[in-house]
Amino acid sequence: MRMRTTQWTVTGALGKGALVVSLLMVGACSVNPATGEKQFTAFMPAGQEASVGASEHEKVQQAYGKFMTGPVADYVSRVGAKVATNTERPDVQYKFFVIDSPIVNAFAIPGGYVYVSRGLLALANNEAEIAGVLGHEIGHITARHSAERMSHGLLVGLGAAVLSAAVGDPGVSRAAGLGSELYIKSYSRGQESQADELGVRYLSHAGYDPQAMASFLKKLDAQTKLEQQIAGSASQSEFNYFSTHPVTSDRIVQASAQAQNYPAGSNDDGRGTHMRAINGMIYGDSPEQGFVKGNNFYHTKLGFMFSVPNGFAINNTPAQVVAADKASGTVVLFDAAGNAQKPDPATYISQVWLAGKDIGKVDSTTVNGMRAATAAFAGSVNGKAATIRVMAIEWEPGQFFRFQLAIPTGASASIVNELKRTTYSFRRLTDSEKASIRPARIQIVNAGPSDTPATLAARMAFSSYREERFRVLNGLATGEGLNGGTQYKIVVE
Ligand code: ZN
Repeated sequence: MRMRTTQWTVTGALGKGALVVSLLMVGACSVNPATGEKQFTAFMPAGQEASVGASEHEKVQQAYGKFMTGPVADYVSRVGAKVATNTERPDVQYKFFVIDSPIVNAFAIPGGYVYVSRGLLALANNEAEIAGVLGHEIGHITARHSAERMSHGLLVGLGAAVLSAAVGDPGVSRAAGLGSELYIKSYSRGQESQADELGVRYLSHAGYDPQAMASFLKKLDAQTKLEQQIAGSASQSEFNYFSTHPVTSDRIVQASAQAQNYPAGSNDDGRGTHMRAINGMIYGDSPEQGFVKGNNFYHTKLGFMFSVPNGFAINNTPAQVVAADKASGTVVLFDAAGNAQKPDPATYISQVWLAGKDIGKVDSTTVNGMRAATAAFAGSVNGKAATIRVMAIEWEPGQFFRFQLAIPTGASASIVNELKRTTYSFRRLTDSEKASIRPARIQIVNAGPSDTPATLAARMAFSSYREERFRVLNGLATGEGLNGGTQYKIVVE
């Protein structure tokens, strides 16, 4: 969750922009210099493309907050500039941004804006793989795929879908900050293979091993499989690389085959440069977004925490924190909102948050010394009748943290009790807690002569799947050993 001073609605970052793009297109037919294809979706003049891109870029920034700066961002810009030098569209001014998100993703918008996430940087093993990802995104720009993809919208954000099911009432949904889903377009299969092909070409022209594209796709595949394994069959549809860039089983094979049309490239894949750039980088959620440890959600930057019942899966999205229990069908939503009138919590619930709704009596209470109010009313969750309980806790005058619980009718008394504990577990962190509760980071280590994947994995700050995570993070197949003296990534606290 990202905090804004008032309400941090995520406005359709790319959805609205796609509409703008369609309005600006002029009917014509021209040959694309990158693909050699005739395109009927006419070219937007470069100047217009740049201004559309600039306004889209603002939306991306709104959705993701500040972009990363410092050595990691410099490194990505440097690699991007190398790859962008040899494209067919010198009229485009390419700009590269690192999104402060643990999710593995990369995307591009018209005007030369290319984004790559911190999560993707952590997964890549070397500079060549990053060049491949950036080359693929540049390929979408040079092939002008963005103008063609406005019809396929993809709803992003688990929380939004769950919440609308939970409250059922569009008025309540709006009050809860819905209507704020981030829509991003997915590319077609044909566009994906075209971007891969262009990415391979740009890799080679920049002097990298063109096989780096296939090797990164392989890593993505392994990462996705491991995530599914860890999450069980109930994998969540997240806004990740696969949601924006559909991957088919033959994509890796194809990228590898295309690479064989090019010379092997320079010998140096830039592993050392890459490892240096990401050493110490935050892994997973950051203090700015709040992070999950066990059953607890911590926001050390703002200074609060709360706990959810055992067995609940917590999902931290840009707009809210969602915790769900598959067995009972219970959903917990946590977010924040502001109101300039600075009402007391009960007034906030009845006259602002849920104004005009039939929510019955609002009770005032306190939560660990903070003023709060709560109400319960009938609703539904995933089509089942449920009790919706809301709670607003006053953080500062006019600033509220909010819980919404959807408890299916017939849920056991123990679940209901545990959920009550969840809302009352919200508290301020002490200064020493703020200093001692730290997010995980990438640490680069040299493998010693007696190290094995198991010995390095044992140093990872995870309670489960340590070796599996270590192998995926370092691109090692099952059974593959280490090379002594080589640098590897581990995740530490
Ligand atoms: Zn793509």
